[in-house]
Amino acid sequence: MKFRDDSLRLNDPDLLRQKGFIGGVWCDAASGDSMAILSPADATPVGCVPMFATGEIREAVRAAQEASRGWRTLTPRQRGAVMRRWAELILVNIDDLASILTAEQGKPLAEARAEVTGSAGFVDWFAEEGRRAYGEVIPPPDGTRRTIVVREPIGVVGAITPWNFPSSMVARKCAPALAAGCTIILKPAPQTPFSALALAAIAERAGVPAGVINIVTGDAARIGGELTCNPAVRKLSFTGSTAVGKLLMAQCANTVKRVSLELGGHAPFIVFADADLDMAVQGLIAAKFRNAGQTCVAANRIYLHESIYNAFASKLVCLVGALKVGHGTSPGVQIGPLISEAALRKVELQIAEAIEGGARVLCGGKRHQLGGTFFEPTVLGEVNDGMLAAREETFGPVAPLLRFREEAEVLQRANDTPYGLTGYFYTSDHGRVWRAAEGLETGIVGVNVGVTAFEAAPFGGVKESGFGREGARQGLDEYLTTKYVCVGGL
Ligand code: NAP
Repeated sequence: MKFRDDSLRLNDPDLLRQKGFIGGVWCDAASGDSMAILSPADATPVGCVPMFATGEIREAVRAAQEASRGWRTLTPRQRGAVMRRWAELILVNIDDLASILTAEQGKPLAEARAEVTGSAGFVDWFAEEGRRAYGEVIPPPDGTRRTIVVREPIGVVGAITPWNFPSSMVARKCAPALAAGCTIILKPAPQTPFSALALAAIAERAGVPAGVINIVTGDAARIGGELTCNPAVRKLSFTGSTAVGKLLMAQCANTVKRVSLELGGHAPFIVFADADLDMAVQGLIAAKFRNAGQTCVAANRIYLHESIYNAFASKLVCLVGALKVGHGTSPGVQIGPLISEAALRKVELQIAEAIEGGARVLCGGKRHQLGGTFFEPTVLGEVNDGMLAAREETFGPVAPLLRFREEAEVLQRANDTPYGLTGYFYTSDHGRVWRAAEGLETGIVGVNVGVTAFEAAPFGGVKESGFGREGARQGLDEYLTTKYVCVGGL
């Protein structure tokens, strides 16, 4: 299957891989089964990927196990050198990688480029951080012994990623795994496999040995079943919805695997009366409308102090009304399509339910005239805590505005959810900065800022948003295990 000529012209067409990558071999499914991937912008075919059978997934696990013997015995400096080349080549190929990402996911090209830059950032950062997998020397209990703690690679890792960040989610798992000395089998989301496959192709060029990174595509339950139940897989790292995370965690119980879960979010975004409103509105645009609202850290409930509610809402409506919606490759576009018709219907349902309950559409509110899965950036006023938009992750370009009076009250409402990934607030009061940062039950807090993530910061949630951290030195720990060595008879 080929791209439409007008939608994708790659400098290096070889980066569009329509095969899986198992044990260093680019392969089709033995059955010949494949699935077509369509662009969310206009439903044109992007390409196809194989539907692997269970035996082929098992083969990928075997290949990762085999490759692990060599990869884990390299020094961190040797692994880092290969990874640094990988990071450099990602940046050399950024135009093609961004084009592939926009074709399969729909986000504006500028956002795709930023994401690919972030992917290179993860690989480069962990290339270095692998050298700091320090152990410990413990004072022994008597003179005849020496007692030390060493950190070792956990072994073969299974990874499952979602469609909203098809490049950086892959880098965020592969980079720390490889730096720690682990090997990996990764299943990308079926909507967006090509970014993962292109990253693997570049890794191969950089000298990552065969079997260290394996990419498998196909039926989720089949692949997930093998990755969670095969005893050779020692860790599962999952990013996706809370519902699927719970299922995979249960499946991992039987072989007692280490698990990291980066799950759904439902971020509160609080604007206190003493906030810089212009800065807060800009922060909200970034926190809410990046990737058309399809981010786990998206501001989902916007709490405005009653004294600034009207002023904030009118500033916000001005900016949101001017956001440019369109195909990700069109110049100046800020909002691409939603990933699917189902995503669009969820957004419509939340808006309809809110209007029925008394909310008002301040701008947008309906499907965009472009058709397909394009939706107008929307602001909803007078939303209350009982409405769906205030209770469930939206994953779309809808900003629901709620009023509050007191600091304690708004913190209690912000925390009244099973989710706990990110929380944002805007204030100029130093005391409140600490009270609110400590009061929010989330893994990440943004104070006077709408975008927090970068490779050296620990990313992850609490409560039903999951556990484990990605990025930062904590992200390396996820792929290391602790061994205590006691030497006696001195
Ligand atoms: P999803 O439906 O949970 O899917 C995520 C991945 O899991 C996909 O590759 C999916 O493949 C796979 N999957 C689904 N059922 C499976 C099963 N039974 N066994 C194995 N794999 C299975 O989530 P999504 O809609 O793609 O992504 C959006 C969600 O991800 C949101 O909730 C968002 O908040 C969350 N997210 C969290 C973070 C974070 O860091 N906390 C980051 C990004 C996104 P199939 O599509 O083939 O089923």
